[in-house]
Amino acid sequence: MILPPATLGMLGGGQLGRFFVSAAHEMGYKVWVLDPDPHSPAGQIADRHLVAAYEDFAALDQLAAECAAVTTEFENVPAGTLDYLAKFIPVHPSASAVGVCQNRIAEKSFLADNGLPHGPFAAIRSDEDIAEANAGLFPGVLKVARFGYDGKGQARVASREEALAAFHGFNREACVLEKLLPLDYEVSVVLARSAAGEVRAFPSGENSHRHGILDVTIAPARASACLADTAQQVAEQIAARLGYVGTLGVEFFVTRGELVVNEMAPRPHNSGHHTIDACVTSQYDQQVRALCGLPLGEPRQHSAAVMVNLLGELWYEGGAHDGTQLGKYREPDWSALHAVPGLRLHLYGKHHARPGRKMGHFTVIGDDPATVLERAMAARAAIG
Ligand code: ADP
Ligand code: MG
Repeated sequence: MILPPATLGMLGGGQLGRFFVSAAHEMGYKVWVLDPDPHSPAGQIADRHLVAAYEDFAALDQLAAECAAVTTEFENVPAGTLDYLAKFIPVHPSASAVGVCQNRIAEKSFLADNGLPHGPFAAIRSDEDIAEANAGLFPGVLKVARFGYDGKGQARVASREEALAAFHGFNREACVLEKLLPLDYEVSVVLARSAAGEVRAFPSGENSHRHGILDVTIAPARASACLADTAQQVAEQIAARLGYVGTLGVEFFVTRGELVVNEMAPRPHNSGHHTIDACVTSQYDQQVRALCGLPLGEPRQHSAAVMVNLLGELWYEGGAHDGTQLGKYREPDWSALHAVPGLRLHLYGKHHARPGRKMGHFTVIGDDPATVLERAMAARAAIG
């Protein structure tokens, strides 16, 4: 077991890293963050912020010398970085688990190879792959295999011709072509798994997206108990087969009443933010515990919760989401939010708001799910 006042390492300085730093600090640990952005949200509150590239070996040597263990808050850490650090100190999740989650071809193949539910897809590496793709995949979504997020690097394609044009638009980078599924709704499961193989899952969350970006999470999901149980079981199988250690997020589609895995995130997940305010142990507490070899905490949710993301367009008067008609830049008026019973506001300390950028979120908690949802929607209307 790694115990306080040990120093932990975090690769990535975004908001997920920032919440990890807070959780680790509360538990008595120190945290060093590696992120090339000098203003990164996690770097601001870390004990030390190494402002360096992820492949800067001098910085990695410093991290390995100071930290008892290292984890990550984003899936695009180069595998070489994780492998290098793992020569010196424990790294969780492992390079191989992160490698599966950071490449959509590897991810879909992993699901297919393990008999886990997933939608129809084809790996696209060349024009020929599109010519030969099953006609049943259209209309579909072409997604770059690497570095896509918040709906970026994706194109809806009605036909083979459109898929070809989109593939060329992505400079013929490796892609997956997925069938466009009719979505009843989307759910996610966040869980933690320890090195000993112990698994604790949070109740599943129900997610709605706007323009490909998570907008609202309702937790627990309003899904049937049976569907929620199945989602948990599938997420646990994924974690076990990846030999996963840490906090893992699994996104699902519910299509015509059936569950299919959409994608996995080898880190805490945006749809698990409410666990800070509504669960006995948060997804970030679990990340610290799993990394340090502590027993995992109790994931029980003590309150109904609704989480609403606050995106950068809120910082512009009358801000249009597409960024074409941005009004004056100003801080939103937070006073309306603070008056809402059961609401907690979390702002990430990002220096500049851009449309679509995740700047913060709020969570409303309470005893009655319907009241909580009503208050959250009213709060959102009041500021947006
Ligand atoms: P990201 O990495 O940007 O989160 P996702 O693959 O999760 O990428 O896609 C973002 C959102 O786009 C999904 O949550 C879903 O709402 C929609 N979407 C993606 N793929 C499909 C699909 N095959 N069928 C229907 N909707 C999809
Ligand atoms: Mg997603």
